[in-house]
Amino acid sequence: MAEEGFDVLVLGTGAAGLTAAIAAHEHGAKVGVLEKSDRVGGTTAWSGGMIWIPNTPHQKAAGRSDSREEALTYIGALSNGLISEDLAAAYVDAGPEMVRFLEERTPVSFYCVADFPDYHPEVPGGKAEGGRTLECPPFSYHELGEWAARVEVSPYFPDIHIAIGETTLGQPVPVPMPPEVKQRRIAEDERGLGHALIGRLLKGCLDRGIEPLTGHRAVELILSNGRVTGVRVEHEGGERVIAARNVVIATGGFEWNERFVRAFLRGPLTHPVSVPTNTGDGLVMAMKAGAMLGNMREAWWQTSVVVPDTLVSTGRQIISSARGLPGAIIVNRAGRRFMNEAANYNAVGAAMQEQDTASGTYRNLPCWVVFDQRYFDRYGFAGGMKDGLNGGTASAPDWITAAETLDGLALKLGIPAGALDETVARFNAHVEAGHDADFQRGESAHDRWWGDPAWKGQKRATLGPIGPGPWYAVEMLPSGLGTKGGPQTDAEGRVMHLDGQPIEGLYAAGNAMASPFGMTYGGAGGTIGPAMVFGFLAGRHAARHNARA
Ligand SMILES: Cc1cc2nc3c(=O)[nH]c(=O)nc-3n(C[C@H](O)[C@H](O)[C@H](O)COP(=O)(O)OP(=O)(O)OC[C@H]3O[C@@H](n4cnc5c(N)ncnc54)[C@H](O)[C@@H]3O)c2cc1C
Repeated sequence: MAEEGFDVLVLGTGAAGLTAAIAAHEHGAKVGVLEKSDRVGGTTAWSGGMIWIPNTPHQKAAGRSDSREEALTYIGALSNGLISEDLAAAYVDAGPEMVRFLEERTPVSFYCVADFPDYHPEVPGGKAEGGRTLECPPFSYHELGEWAARVEVSPYFPDIHIAIGETTLGQPVPVPMPPEVKQRRIAEDERGLGHALIGRLLKGCLDRGIEPLTGHRAVELILSNGRVTGVRVEHEGGERVIAARNVVIATGGFEWNERFVRAFLRGPLTHPVSVPTNTGDGLVMAMKAGAMLGNMREAWWQTSVVVPDTLVSTGRQIISSARGLPGAIIVNRAGRRFMNEAANYNAVGAAMQEQDTASGTYRNLPCWVVFDQRYFDRYGFAGGMKDGLNGGTASAPDWITAAETLDGLALKLGIPAGALDETVARFNAHVEAGHDADFQRGESAHDRWWGDPAWKGQKRATLGPIGPGPWYAVEMLPSGLGTKGGPQTDAEGRVMHLDGQPIEGLYAAGNAMASPFGMTYGGAGGTIGPAMVFGFLAGRHAARHNARA
């Protein structure tokens, strides 16, 4: 083997890749990690950093009950025939093991984000009282030395010195952070959210002498007699082949590859919110190696709005809880509501793909979040313009359509006259009756949790009256946190060839693999949870079965 060769070479430095690297090293492998970007951490660093892992001791310590059977029942209930029982069982069984392993052998630690409900808590096995969502406590980036400046910084969380469990989303009653804690967080550069998770995983790698090679883009697998022997890599100033007996593809999804998005996804995903380096390189490599693909039409669907890049550097803002707050509804081009605005983002994103039987077009595209002045004054919009909060009156910038009347708004949006008036009157009648007879907004514990914290846990947290005007509207766009199709794997993370056998030495994890979750999103942390579990399984298996060539 060439001098620079590795037993296990991991491609990508998100949660999937770094977990795989640590697990492989723990089991005796010489590990290398390549990262295409100049910064490490991928979308994981941009994220909330939560992981959804059923049946952990953390859940029990928080006074919540769970079992293997309940978790499998829940996942099975959401399967639509797409979730393999083997992979679901591997995930549920290995989840707590992965958590324990990282906590014992690295600086990674977790606690339960108490009360955070599953995303479909009312289906069998679902947990309305939460417990399956974990996150890391904030982590001091001083511990990373020069690597602190080489981690991706999230455009979506302006305050990185906070944990989800400390926000209004992560607790039943909002508790303000004491000023001395805030000051210490800033002084020690203690970062929460995805930064905490990636910081801790990266430290776990660095402690083991694993230093990711940034600016190194893997482009092709080298195979000999059907088994992986290395990877061709492009980097500034050239390219080279790095020898490796095993390769873990953890290169994220293909959401930034327009050609693949059009070819594979079941509906439009025009505004991805992940790191732009996720262009499906791993998918290309796996396809060329003859991998069987799976779950190709699916993404972790999300919604966003276009905003000035002075507000968010990516020029788009994710719209999650904002669309379900009291005083907002979402309407399609007919001026009609078409879904529960407070449902989870994966479900809402999918609802945008419904086809009209007569015209064959997407019935609900374009669509708009419509809100009233009271909403605007109370919540601002898209993470900005909260100047109305202290009793003032927010005013609309250019990118928000505004009108004094609903008909005026409809005219500007191209919605038939009278339709918005009817929709608003019907919705307000539902609010008055205390029940959204059309879309059951506020019926689920999920909706009530994500709503206005002043009414935390109550239907009123989302189901409030809308109006009077002035009125505002912003187009809501089909987005994704990442795609979830890729090479099919077995329960050990081994990539399967079209002929039904594993490709020797090839593994995949995270959004680069065919997700074990089919169409669904189990709960907060539902993407990073499986990314880490299958990263753990892949890294461990690759190291244990590191057959000499
Ligand atoms: C604002 C926001 C909040 C979110 N919050 C959560 C949350 O709390 N919980 C949750 O579960 N999910 C969350 N998500 C989704 C989650 O971040 C992603 O689904 C998850 O991080 C994907 O992990 P990954 O390791 O598969 O990929 P990534 O973290 O995206 O990492 C992939 C890496 O591979 C690199 N790469 C790509 N191609 C190559 C190549 N050819 N060679 C080498 N490297 C390559 C990329 O540059 C990138 O660094 C959130 C997403 C966003 C945007």
